[in-house]
Formats: sequence, structure tokens, C-alpha cells
Amino acid sequence: MTEKNLRPATLLVHQGKDRDPYTGAAAIPIYTASTYHHPEGKAGEYDYCRSGNPSREQVEEAIALLEGGTRGFAYPTGMAAVGSALALLRSGDHLVAPEDLYGGSWRYLSTVLPQQGIEVSFVDTTEPSAIERAIRPATRGIFLETPSNPLFKITDLRAVAEIARRREILTFLDNTFMTPLLQRPLALGIDVVIHSATKFLGGHSDLMAGLVTVADPELGKRLKHFQNAFGAVLSPFDSFLLSRGIKTLKVRLEASQKNASILAERLREHPAVARLYYPGFPDFPGHERHFSQASGAGAVLSFELQEPAAVERLLRRARLPIIAPSLGGVETILTHCWSMSHAAIPAAVKEQLRIRKTLVRLSAGIEDVEDLWDDLAAALESN
Ligand SMILES: *Cc1c(COP(=O)(O)O)cnc(C)c1O
Repeated sequence: MTEKNLRPATLLVHQGKDRDPYTGAAAIPIYTASTYHHPEGKAGEYDYCRSGNPSREQVEEAIALLEGGTRGFAYPTGMAAVGSALALLRSGDHLVAPEDLYGGSWRYLSTVLPQQGIEVSFVDTTEPSAIERAIRPATRGIFLETPSNPLFKITDLRAVAEIARRREILTFLDNTFMTPLLQRPLALGIDVVIHSATKFLGGHSDLMAGLVTVADPELGKRLKHFQNAFGAVLSPFDSFLLSRGIKTLKVRLEASQKNASILAERLREHPAVARLYYPGFPDFPGHERHFSQASGAGAVLSFELQEPAAVERLLRRARLPIIAPSLGGVETILTHCWSMSHAAIPAAVKEQLRIRKTLVRLSAGIEDVEDLWDDLAAALESN
């Protein structure tokens, strides 16, 4: 039996290595050494911590196994993962990206990449024809997020992978919302899969990390070269925390997803809620497309309230959820996208994208759903 044959729940627990090869310890220790002894002047398996260490390798191997990649990479944040993956592009290249995407990625793509000579076109990626129209001779990359953040727009991954393959364009997908348990983009033809492991993979709102994995060994080599050359690597301590979080992903995600679907049903019926975005509803635009490429709706949803005053009341009165720009923790998290997760996007652009001031994102935690509902329902009362 090799790791490749193991089912996801088993891989999450056992990962690539399930005990320390030197001591048999049940968890890979936090190898903090910055450098490694070279017996008789010769490097062994490890030579210097930036280039490799067993704690980081644990999570790098885990993400590759979980996503079906050949090689994985761990970075100190999700944004470092996004930036490092996009370093596969070079000056003069053109990138196509979604209009609706995580605010930090929008900031990187719209302010940093252009300074490096990479032009970016933001289009509605739910329409493969819009992507085709945006493609130019210099286009070398397509960046995707599905479901998108915060409006849950669904992009057809197979269709985009096909468009890209014919033209030798690299496809990048931020798979943070789905995790490898619900969506495995490499199998659908995507080239580079990115995660903010700060969210579901870490799962406890107590660390920052980013992961990247690829199937093509040549891309793997280039990413390894950049990671070692640039030096954005996940620390041994955070690698340990991330490995620990990954072990319980399945039980956490299943519990969170169940809570999200119950809260989505109830919120949708609530008079204070004008509109709810959750791909779990059969009548949600893109529902079928989503379930043709993913096995669950996930644990995050967004809703618009009838009036700005209701948002203020909700954020002031809610007691259980933490009110913060994040998601994927064991605790329920409420985010005011306008002022938190998408603060980097100028107001006029947000208006145009229909990311309104009345929009709230909810990442369901694993609390008792009846407590969550009692709290939310009380906070949504109109008086
Ligand atoms: C949070 C997030 C990121 C950025 O990750 P950090 O760990 O905060 O740097 C990227 N993409 C998505 C979808 C996210 O939710």
C-alpha cells in the first residue's frame, strides 16, 4: 500500500510521514535548526533550513498527496503562496483573472504584478467566452477562484483548463474555500493549486500559512527554485501547527458544512435578509456546474441584509461569531466584506462588482448550530 492509494480521510491523518523516522515520535517534531551538520564536509539529506527541513516537508508532502500533485510547497502566508505561484510568469506576460476574488489577491494582481511588467485583465470568468476574448498573444496565465469570494460565482474548471491547454497558458486556482476534500483541481486539468492554509487547512485561527501544489514535475522544479531563491518559507513551528490542523480537516469541514447549510436555509427565510449566496441551493446560479467539479457546497456563505442599519445591528449584537476578516476556523466568523476582506478594493469597483455595504460573509464553525441560530436570529431582530 502506498500513500497514493489511501483515501482522503486516511491521508489527512497519516499524511506522507506519520511518525518521526529518527525516534518514532507520533508527530513529526518541530525541527528548529537553521542549518545541518555536513559530515566530512558533505551535505546530507538536509543542508540549510530555507532549502528544506523535515517539519515543513511534512505539510508540503501532505498537500501534494491530498491534491494529487507531484510536489508541494509551504509559504508563510496565503498571499506569499499566491505571489510565489505567480512568479512562474515573467515580465511581458499577460494574466487573465476574475473580477470577483479575494481582496488581497486583487491587490497583488492589480498593484504589484503591473509593476513587474505583468498586465492583468479582470473578467467574468464564469463565462468561458469572456476569458477567450481577453486572451492575447502575450497571455501566459489564467488565475481563478471558484466559488469566488464573496459572491460565490462558479467557474467551469474543465472548460477553462481546455481553453488554456490549447494555447499553452498556465492555469492557477485558489482552492482555499473548497480544500482538497471538496474539490481537486489538478484532476480537472488545472496546473497550479493554491491555498491560504490560514483558513480551513490550519482550521483554528491560530496560524498563517500558504500552500501550492502542481502535477507537472517541471513546474515543481521552477517553484522549488523560486522558493529557495526568494526565501518565503513556512517556519518549522507553523509547519507543525498546520500538520496538526490538517489531521482533523475532515471532521471539522463536515461539521462546519452541515452548520452552514442549516444556517443558509434559515437565513434565506429571514425577513432581514434580502439575498443569500450559497452554492448548496439547487436554484443557485452555477449550482450544477459547482457540483460537477466539487463534492460539497463548503462552509462559507454570504448574505445581503435589507438595510445598512441591519448590518450595524448584527455586528454589534452577535455574541458567538468573531467579527473578523477570515474564514475556515472552528469558530464561526462574520465578515463585513466591504470594510474587511475586500477593503483593498476601491469603493467604486466594489459597487460595480455588487459587493455592497449590506453584504456579510459567514464562515460556519463547529459550534452547536442551535446556539448559532439563536444568536444570529436575536442579532437580526429589527428593534
Ligand atoms: C485569506 C485568503 C487568501 C490570503 O491568505 P493569507 O493567509 O491571509 O495571506 C487568499 N485567498 C483566499 C481565498 C483567502 O480567503
